[in-house]
Amino acid sequence: MYAFLPEEIFAIETLHHSHSEKLQEKFRAKQIYGWLYNKYVLDFDSMSNIAKAHRERLASVFRISHLQVRHIEQSSDGTRKYLFQTHDNLLFESVFILMREKVIDDDGKILKSEKYTFCLSSQVGCRVGCVFCSTAKGGFVRNLNAGEIVEQVVFLKRDNHIDSHKSVNIVFMGMGEPLDNLKNVAKAIKIISHKDGLNIATRRQTISTSGIVPQIERLGAMNLGVQIALSLHAVDDCLRSKLIPMNKVYNIAKVLESLKKFPLQARKRILFEYLVLKDVNDSLEHAKKLVKLLHGFRAKVNLIPFNPHSDSVFERPRREKLKLFADYLYERGIVATIRESRGLDINAACGQLRQKIQNKDFLEDKIALNNNHV
Ligand code: SAH
Ligand code: SF4
Repeated sequence: MYAFLPEEIFAIETLHHSHSEKLQEKFRAKQIYGWLYNKYVLDFDSMSNIAKAHRERLASVFRISHLQVRHIEQSSDGTRKYLFQTHDNLLFESVFILMREKVIDDDGKILKSEKYTFCLSSQVGCRVGCVFCSTAKGGFVRNLNAGEIVEQVVFLKRDNHIDSHKSVNIVFMGMGEPLDNLKNVAKAIKIISHKDGLNIATRRQTISTSGIVPQIERLGAMNLGVQIALSLHAVDDCLRSKLIPMNKVYNIAKVLESLKKFPLQARKRILFEYLVLKDVNDSLEHAKKLVKLLHGFRAKVNLIPFNPHSDSVFERPRREKLKLFADYLYERGIVATIRESRGLDINAACGQLRQKIQNKDFLEDKIALNNNHV
């Protein structure tokens, strides 16, 4: 059910309706949206302002939820990682990040409200095959459909008791390459931002890409109003091609060129993600080249210290080195932040929880198999 815009619910519902019935249905589609996205209901029977006969008809046509949660890990810093299972038994992850807690003064007055970011997946697995990424390990399995993408937001809002009026930030930085599934991601963004539903403004939604140039251009032409983030990770093509094989086709110059034309929202910047790998791309020489590359951009750099996982050859950079790198950029007028390793104790880099659970499942199967043999 989360895969439809109100006008689509309306169109399915009114296939055999008269004109006056159609008008009624239009209003009803809006009511249904309210129940789904503001009250987070999970069954049609709870939609109390809709007639019983109609609720029954809805239940015969639609199913509300298509995801099951397999596992939730809670980190000491408030980050929660969700492992979802699809109807065809595939696993993928979403991360709930508490960016800032509520600040209240002695009289109970709210000085600062809390801030949340939801990190969503767009695919099960990924085709791009970056060497440092655990999502890439199992290869590509399938695209998530728009409903499965939207349901992640509803689930995280409901499970964390977030009021429907409270807006959150959305980042497509979970599993998968969102621009390799642009059709479903764009549809999901339209549903997530719909004013009768979740109403999360597109300027609060960021798509992170490894740099598929024609798709960046397509996304730009759609003019959705979303933010874009590029996983740059290297300042020369030789290293970037080793890390992100697709760089051989869409090299740094081509990707930057496509970003120059990307429609930016007022007061917004393009986000450049730079994965920092110890002794690979963390020197001041690299920082210097990065400043040169970003010349002419309204850029913001997010330095991401590598999150180690089993069978990774890379290491986490030293804290002082990261700080030097960030200071260098900052002193040259580039807004640079170091991504705090939220949820480090719960395998929060994309794909890592899935890997862990799959390994566990595998182990359990193996133990069961061995036991059967005894
Ligand atoms: N496919 C998209 C979005 C998902 S990955 C992309 O690549 O941009 C989101 C971010 O996590 C990317 O910048 C990616 O490079 C980074 N990432 C992947 N594995 C990581 C790891 N082990 N440690 C830290 N960041 C990682
Ligand atoms: Fe895919 Fe992004 Fe992982 Fe690269 S970093 S393999 S593009 S999910």
